[in-house]
Amino acid sequence: MSTYQALWVTETPQFQQSVVERSMDDLPEGEVLIRVRYSSLNYKDALSATGNRGVTRTFPHTPGIDAAGVVEHSSVAELAAGDEVIVTGYDLGMNTYGGMAQYIRVPAAWVIKRPAGLSLRESMILGTAGLTAALCVDKLLRAGLTAEAGSVLVTGATGGVGSIAIVLLKHLGFHVTAVTGKAEQTEFLRQLGAQEVIAREALTSGTDKALLKPQWAGVVDTVGGDILFNAVKSLQYGGSAACCGLTAGIDFKASVLPFILRGVNLLGVDSVELPLVNKASMWDKLSLQWKLDLESLVKEISLKDVPNAIATMLATQQTGRTLVRID
Ligand code: NDP
Repeated sequence: MSTYQALWVTETPQFQQSVVERSMDDLPEGEVLIRVRYSSLNYKDALSATGNRGVTRTFPHTPGIDAAGVVEHSSVAELAAGDEVIVTGYDLGMNTYGGMAQYIRVPAAWVIKRPAGLSLRESMILGTAGLTAALCVDKLLRAGLTAEAGSVLVTGATGGVGSIAIVLLKHLGFHVTAVTGKAEQTEFLRQLGAQEVIAREALTSGTDKALLKPQWAGVVDTVGGDILFNAVKSLQYGGSAACCGLTAGIDFKASVLPFILRGVNLLGVDSVELPLVNKASMWDKLSLQWKLDLESLVKEISLKDVPNAIATMLATQQTGRTLVRID
């Protein structure tokens, strides 16, 4: 019986994570068997690995919403053994065993061939966080954001989505204002490309007011809650906020005033269930005109280091991206 190594989360009754040997026979049904080379750590993985039932209903389980690797077996004509591929989102790592393992088996409808301009490693430095940052920026551009309009606010700035959003916006010539709870990371954020760095508290006061001074041409919001509420109230006339995350909370208090007096837009971003064709086109963009140098924000770890990295992420001490090297 052949086996593979995987991060394995058990409920005993506390949730514990360890690297174990698993039988290949226990992989789920699927058309494509992939030998995983890299995964990456996302906030959702930290939730899954610590028993959040909104992400993963049943345990034991292998997290990992991201995987990049080589097809070992395929039962569909479009994919062949040896193809280098990327899988992000859908049910991977949620209720389907995920990318924190040497192998995954998934439906062909989740699989994208690696674009020529990105290595497997580069694709996982981006991972779901990079895809989501790009989708946020793309939505803002489609809503009319221009570099001349003013500063773009990025919340949760030191996190995976936030830090890549800063690098991408800088790459596109935008003035970026980063919001962070980590004053000690100000220099890191400036090096990524933020011209201004402001403290999280500056965005949490003023919730009692219906409108705030118009400041931002656009917002990439990764945190939700009062910070998103205040950011929307601080948009300039006609500005847009792309909303993708919930680290500050899932509640969003709202007033119609910014919408009806300033014509602002609130744009929802989902990278998980996005149709494969749209994901593929965003990956193409990230491999060509939006290709970014992200080496300064990545930390590379191996599978056995993942439990510590999860603890760091949940303690909000994480900065940038954590790449997981599987072999
Ligand atoms: P990270 O953990 O890497 O980053 C989150 C950042 O949020 C932290 O680094 C911190 O940044 C900030 N933060 C943490 N706690 C709080 C708080 N209580 N109040 C305000 N800010 C806080 O996560 P990711 O970047 O991977 O993901 C960010 C969010 O986006 C998550 O909610 C995730 O679920 C969501 N997401 C959604 C996707 C979608 O498709 N819609 C896809 C990917 C992610 P700082 O200290 O700099 O303020």
